[in-house]
Amino acid sequence: MRVTVGRHTLFLGRVSGIRIGVHVSWLVLFGFVTLMVASGFTSLPPPARYALGALCAIVLFVSVVAHELAHALAARRFGVRTASISVFLLGGIAMLEEEPATPRADALVALAGPAMSALIALVGCVGLLLGGRFAPAGLRDATLILAAYVTLANAALAAFNLLPAYPMDGGRVLRALIWRRTRDREFATAVAARIGMSCGVLIVAAAVLICAATHELVFGWYALLGTFILRAGWSHERAFRRARRVRAELPAAA
Ligand SMILES: [Zn+2]
Repeated sequence: MRVTVGRHTLFLGRVSGIRIGVHVSWLVLFGFVTLMVASGFTSLPPPARYALGALCAIVLFVSVVAHELAHALAARRFGVRTASISVFLLGGIAMLEEEPATPRADALVALAGPAMSALIALVGCVGLLLGGRFAPAGLRDATLILAAYVTLANAALAAFNLLPAYPMDGGRVLRALIWRRTRDREFATAVAARIGMSCGVLIVAAAVLICAATHELVFGWYALLGTFILRAGWSHERAFRRARRVRAELPAAA
């Protein structure tokens, strides 16, 4: 395995020619998932419970990479290359070298990720069914826990990414629909970004309320994600307004 280092990102190698990297912030998620899973299995001896937690964190990493690879391979079908995939604290990013050229391509590239996650969740369900029957007695519990984690993690990845919160996948599908209707990609991006910002505010508010009600800091992760969506939406919105202002000023300057 060839490992190269980018800006705070360790590149582990290539899959289908696409560089796969892990950002340093993912280590926080790795530690967090390991501790969360381990704390749910206090009946196991500490080495076994932390090993299980670490395995679940790695399963989540592989699941996120598979989700992003699905985006990248769908983009490739429409002639768009992907420079790299990075996994960080809040999920994964496929760095497409350009935007898909049509609303249809944009929507299909966006839907490919959740479709892959849903497919892996189904595989996890099959693992749950078969693991209970065929796994050796000593490995049955660990097999079932891992299969349950694969199912839940990927179902959550599919469902959460389908929220209409641009730049998440559901928001990109929404943008493609508006783009198709208005034939104006910039305007569609600005509308999707505004809706995304509203979703971001709701996610932050819900996360803070749930944190306060349950005293479970795990929901703080959702507040971070909501802030990320809010910030991304704000930057797209601002870029749209700036481009429109420049265009409006051009005739006067000529
Ligand atoms: Zn996605």
